[in-house]
Amino acid sequence: MAQFDNSYARLPAQMFSQTAPTPVKAPELLAFNDALAAQLGLPKDAEIWAGNQPLEGSMPIAQVYAGHQFGHWNPQLGDGRAVLLGEVLDASGARFDVQLKGSGPTPYSRRGDGRAWLGPVLREYVVSEAMHHLAIPTTRALAATATGETVIREGLFPGAVITRVASSHIRVGTFQFFASQDDLEALQALTDHVIARHAPHATGPLELLQHVVQKQADLVAAWMSVGFIHGVMNTDNCSVPGLTIDYGPCAFMDRYNPRQVFSSIDQQGRYAYQNQPQIAAWNLAQFATALLPLMADREQAIETFTAAVNAFGPAFQAAWLARFGAKIGLTDATEDDLPMIEALLVLMAKDGADFTNAFRGLSGQAPQDQFTDQAAFGAWHEAWLARLGPFEAAKPIMDSANPAIIPRNHRIEQMITAAVEGDMAPFHRLGAALRTPFVASDGDLTRPPSDAEIVPATFCG
Ligand code: AMP
Ligand code: MG
Ligand code: MG
Repeated sequence: MAQFDNSYARLPAQMFSQTAPTPVKAPELLAFNDALAAQLGLPKDAEIWAGNQPLEGSMPIAQVYAGHQFGHWNPQLGDGRAVLLGEVLDASGARFDVQLKGSGPTPYSRRGDGRAWLGPVLREYVVSEAMHHLAIPTTRALAATATGETVIREGLFPGAVITRVASSHIRVGTFQFFASQDDLEALQALTDHVIARHAPHATGPLELLQHVVQKQADLVAAWMSVGFIHGVMNTDNCSVPGLTIDYGPCAFMDRYNPRQVFSSIDQQGRYAYQNQPQIAAWNLAQFATALLPLMADREQAIETFTAAVNAFGPAFQAAWLARFGAKIGLTDATEDDLPMIEALLVLMAKDGADFTNAFRGLSGQAPQDQFTDQAAFGAWHEAWLARLGPFEAAKPIMDSANPAIIPRNHRIEQMITAAVEGDMAPFHRLGAALRTPFVASDGDLTRPPSDAEIVPATFCG
């Protein structure tokens, strides 16, 4: 039996709206995360995860937030199609939000039906669980529940609700909302709440900022290391606990291209693969700005906060070097190794090498097969082996840093197409392989898309 403690619902009333999910016609569980449910003591019940039956101990609310979307300020967003059912404590005392997304309109949905369709729900389910098993901080998926209703988008699609679990859903945009409203009561309450929940060592806003800067540096370095492109790094999708959140238009790269963009609405390439660190730093500057009103001495705070945001650069560099060092078998990579890592990436970009398979290939039998310019790769390989030391010692380092299986975009699309036709087998096959991503358990899923299979664009859902 889940133990609820709905602490956000005890914060000042202007920080949320009490909002129940809107019942649906015919709930049916399409996917359920038994292990996560067991950890949290939550029931396996379509009526509950569709929002038709209240969950005992819950206290449904919608959270308000604001955000910069593609750099443009939007003064009010909020859970427009999601409700936070409440917070559950697991056996170790760790606290988790349990949220329904696609559960109907809320006071914060200005337009839209508050619903979601099956495609984005299953995409988030598969990719967020894949991230978890890659040991990258993320929201998790507890359930995907069909509603038996139709959702109107570019056509008619089957409706679904995802149940999402997270250490919290608090975003940079949550702070921005109250700062922009000059609501110091809420801003202070939110800050106290977040410090107690996510950074208990922090003595105030500066240390909280420093903590979030480090979390985001680690997170984005982890994304870069697996070729993940979030696609919509708006400040309302920038998680204060440092989770990957909002899987709308995300995708993993097949061919390495640092300028890669998948999101159909990202026309300028603002959120391209290689821009992700700079965007994170920009988002953190907005976080710092939102915390400033709490500081008595603003002049001094501007200085210390600026330094804290500027610390993102070195923190990211260190995290990136550790990640990419491990990808080429080095646990002790230093700045001196940067040219070697960068030379490999340049080669991969020139050859259009598959990001995942090129790195994974380094510890295998025929690494050269991932490259077309054999002379250039051969020269790199020779220099690399000289730096590496004993190959047998480096192999396990690489094999636990370079996944064999990632959720490739074409597999996700194939899985969604099948699910819409009532066939959940590809969903289960993908999910099973992605539970052990560092083991090539299903060889066919390691194959890059053929030209005909390439999925060039993703949508916000
Ligand atoms: P999301 O991708 O769910 O984070 O949505 C981005 C923004 O659009 C949020 O402010 C949502 O509240 C709003 N939104 C997206 N889809 C819908 C929908 N179907 N109904 C109501 N609001 C929506
Ligand atoms: Mg969002
Ligand atoms: Mg979204």
